[in-house]
Amino acid sequence: RAKDAGGNRYELADPDSEARAIDRHSLTNRLPAALERDEFFLEYQPLIRMSDGQVDGAEALVRWRHPVHGRLGPDRFIPLAEHTGLIVPLGRWVLEQAVAQTCTWAGGQPLRVNVNLSPRQLHHPDLVPDTIAVLEAAGVAPSSLCLEVTESALIGADEDELKPLWQLAEIGVDIALDDFGTGYSNLANLRKLPATTLKLDRSFTQGLQRHPADPVDLTFVEGIVSLAHALGLAVTVEGVETESQADQLRDLGCDTAQGWYYARPSSPGEFARDWATAG
Ligand code: C2E
Ligand code: MG
Ligand code: MG
Ligand code: MG
Repeated sequence: RAKDAGGNRYELADPDSEARAIDRHSLTNRLPAALERDEFFLEYQPLIRMSDGQVDGAEALVRWRHPVHGRLGPDRFIPLAEHTGLIVPLGRWVLEQAVAQTCTWAGGQPLRVNVNLSPRQLHHPDLVPDTIAVLEAAGVAPSSLCLEVTESALIGADEDELKPLWQLAEIGVDIALDDFGTGYSNLANLRKLPATTLKLDRSFTQGLQRHPADPVDLTFVEGIVSLAHALGLAVTVEGVETESQADQLRDLGCDTAQGWYYARPSSPGEFARDWATAG
């Protein structure tokens, strides 16, 4: 707002960035009530096994049905929740919902569910007991859960900070490194992480869309896949939008794929109808 105070002139703030700041502020303030009033909901996107095209699991993705702004994607509010700490109860809600909703679905065998963890959850002392409690309450095997952690959240983490992830890995929970390839991490560090899966960032998939595909992207994907396999990790690719990308990524040895080519994220009811058989 431009103000005139005692003859002093103030610069007009950029109206766009001001609007965005107000928006962030009001969204942030609304977060606790939103959790209380059940305004968050989950959608699911299938993970497809590249060898046979069968569904191998589902990633749970949170959305917010805001009373004024309508449906908001996680990029609009997860960073705010992370900042205030509300991500801890919100993340626990996501985990509970995701495990409870998916445990009745089956693809040929019981479907695995992938849940995103933010850095703040990772460093919260309740992560391990909460996760175990959620699995036990639903009667779900730890191996049916995969926690996705971004590569960048783990950069610089010391042994103590990685302990909870190791504990979860030891009881059989899968750990995936999300958005892999964007975090400038030291590849040698991969050996020190309890990860079972690398999720190759969408930017690599996009590089394969050009004709001919960017040779540097091809080389990167090939290298990462062979390194991951040598370390005993599976490779999932994000953001597969076309048949040609799917074909190339399968030929490059990727194990699992996710993207609009197979399916957009959908409601639990739609997912169960399209991708699961009663199990
Ligand atoms: P992510 O974990 O990397 O999830 C993949 C994102 O890519 C999702 O966006 C998904 O809808 C989108 N996507 C899937 N296939 C395609 C495709 O073929 N093309 C394109 N262009 N996009 C595709 P979404 O749902 O907007 O989520 C964005 C990010 O928000 C997620 O990235 C994740 O980091 C975060 N997020 C979502 N749900 C949660 C949650 O419950 N907790 C936490 N901490 N973070 C979450
Ligand atoms: Mg993810
Ligand atoms: Mg990802
Ligand atoms: Mg991503």
